[in-house]
Amino acid sequence: MNEIRTRFAPSPTGYLHVGGLRTALYNYLYARQNNGKFILRIEDTDQNRKVDKAVENLIESLRWAGLEIDEGPGFGGAFGPYIQSERTELYRQHVTKLLEKGDAYRCFCTPERLAKVKEQNPNSGYDRHCRYLSDQEIKDKMDAGEAFVIRQKIPENGEIKLYDIVRGEVVFPFSEVDDQVLLKSDGFPTYHLANVIDDHYMQISHVIRGEEWLMSTPKHLLLYESFAWKAPKFAHLSLLLNSDKSKLSKRQGDVSVEDYRSKGYLKEALVNFLALLGWNPGTNEEIFSMDQLMKKFSLKKVSKSGSIFDTKKLDWMNGQYIRALSPEEFYALAIEYFPKETPWSETDRMKMFSLYQQRISRLDEIPEKVAIFTHEFPPMDNDTVRAIDVNVLTVLKVLRDLLVKEADFDQKIFVEKIQEVQKITGIKGKELWTAVRIGVAGQIHGAEINIIAEILGQQACLKRIEKVLHDFAGNN
Ligand code: GLU
Repeated sequence: MNEIRTRFAPSPTGYLHVGGLRTALYNYLYARQNNGKFILRIEDTDQNRKVDKAVENLIESLRWAGLEIDEGPGFGGAFGPYIQSERTELYRQHVTKLLEKGDAYRCFCTPERLAKVKEQNPNSGYDRHCRYLSDQEIKDKMDAGEAFVIRQKIPENGEIKLYDIVRGEVVFPFSEVDDQVLLKSDGFPTYHLANVIDDHYMQISHVIRGEEWLMSTPKHLLLYESFAWKAPKFAHLSLLLNSDKSKLSKRQGDVSVEDYRSKGYLKEALVNFLALLGWNPGTNEEIFSMDQLMKKFSLKKVSKSGSIFDTKKLDWMNGQYIRALSPEEFYALAIEYFPKETPWSETDRMKMFSLYQQRISRLDEIPEKVAIFTHEFPPMDNDTVRAIDVNVLTVLKVLRDLLVKEADFDQKIFVEKIQEVQKITGIKGKELWTAVRIGVAGQIHGAEINIIAEILGQQACLKRIEKVLHDFAGNN
């Protein structure tokens, strides 16, 4: 059996879309589970869309997600270069072959004429005006130095069939296929030509790509036929959708892998989540490591309907991965989100983070959570301010008087003092603990207040309690 070779072939538009990462992931998993190769090819034939550092960003996002590239720009491989703008000569040679065979033709139509054709008939493609020029007409135009593109000659009648791994048989009548431009007037190929030539010479066995390319496939299949090459197998993946079923796009929120990364999603969670957007493992299992995905993923079980990108589910999954980290691993990730200039020791930060590992679903929740430590007097929200009544002030006054007398301080002593407050004031349960929480943390909800108090230390606790007593003395 021939080697399985898959490729991810993005255009370098500046960032990696999460849908692109899913495509790359499916290609990667399929290659790995078949002991094949995963190739990165940069499709930069549209020179107008070139963005600085785009290739570096793409590679960095793939690396972060844990996808190991076997061949590609900077990764070596026997079929390079892996950047299309470095392969233009190859494309030009092949276009000449198509012209000689009569499967392509020169089109001299000006942009103005093409615009007019489109205006008159917005739903049909090029009107094939130059397809029937005589040899003499072509020669005259070339001698006159008229600019031209090269178009693919699509048969006028008939149809072509594709067997798609995800979609089954798809039939494309030629009447719906346009005479596609293959080589632009600047001598650069279009996506279609370069894509087919590269997939052939890079010996790609499976083309796994987004559904948006399905309609291009008849053109590609015809090119394989023209060159007398064996076409690879195709699998077209359905779109990722917003919850309102619209196409997942930048306008509705985050789409780049970089956005998700900086929001504090773990790569394992994002990869796991994306793997399940379209692939159904056939069981209720939801948590899969990359190794498990390599074993269990199946292209045959990829769905042809669109998959909703449910951020709530992603948050849930991310929470699962956060909880599964060791305290040290969590620390290493959480510290990135901790304010840079603070006096807290590593031990204190470790204790702080341990309060939240069980509670957060994204790492970017950390700054808000640790604000109760990093501010001298954490700002209070309206609900907290409204909750400060006579009983709260009574609890805090008694607690302060007990705490100042203590020589030692830790969470055990703190709890003992609160129990004494209960005895003295008769205020107990939730009312008592909420009062303490307001005094020490400036909030009515949150993590264990005794641990918070221990991390803060006796003096900081007293200072905060004093301030509440002072600021709200009028409430008494
Ligand atoms: N360059 C195309 C893209 O940006 C690749 C499509 C394909 O995989 O054939 O998505």
